[in-house]
Amino acid sequence: MYVKSLTLKGFKSFASATHLGLEPGITCIVGPNGSGKSNVVDALAWVMGEQGAKSLRGGKMEDVIFAGTAGRAPLGRAEVSMTIDNTDGALPIDYTEVTIRRTMFRGGSSEYAINGTSCRLLDIQELLSDSGIGREMHVIVGQGQLDAVLRATPEERRGFIEEAAGVLKHRKRKERALRKLETMEVNLARVADLTTEIR
Ligand code: ATP
Repeated sequence: MYVKSLTLKGFKSFASATHLGLEPGITCIVGPNGSGKSNVVDALAWVMGEQGAKSLRGGKMEDVIFAGTAGRAPLGRAEVSMTIDNTDGALPIDYTEVTIRRTMFRGGSSEYAINGTSCRLLDIQELLSDSGIGREMHVIVGQGQLDAVLRATPEERRGFIEEAAGVLKHRKRKERALRKLETMEVNLARVADLTTEIR
């Protein structure tokens, strides 16, 4: 499994559609200061479901949309597509190529798609977490973050390992199931009250 390509359109400084074809192995992005190298990494994090504006070096989520320059008007939406080569079947989906797309409109609404079919953010997060990459984004180490990883507490370190091992998805599912169970118990108590009242 490797990232085969990335297409940015209206994302941060990439106003026009920009397609980056990648090869297996190590990719280096070089360029002058402020040319958009970190924006490419932000696009990767964003398309994989990143929800924190701060992690994307912005004040609010809408800051990912091209804000305009002296010669070009702001755009109304940002879109990033990432194509993953899945010939080794690392992603649990029946396709040898998987394209994840995330779109955000000014006003805040978002759309997600897997291979052109609309889906929920959760579907993308679950698909990726099976491969060890996921929403906690521990696979992306930004400038200055290496220090934070080295200083992590044993609990935080355990979190990194759990995500890499794909355990986090099951932990989240368990949390959701427990929340549903709590609601169910409240409902059951209410039914018991009503039954007593009726008798
Ligand atoms: P350095 O080498 O200094 O780390 P870099 O190549 O990583 O720089 P980035 O941080 O990726 O550069 O890009 C910064 C540029 O992106 C700035 O010029 C900034 O104005 C521009 N930029 C960021 N967000 C937006 C946006 N929403 N709309 C337009 N331009 C943006």
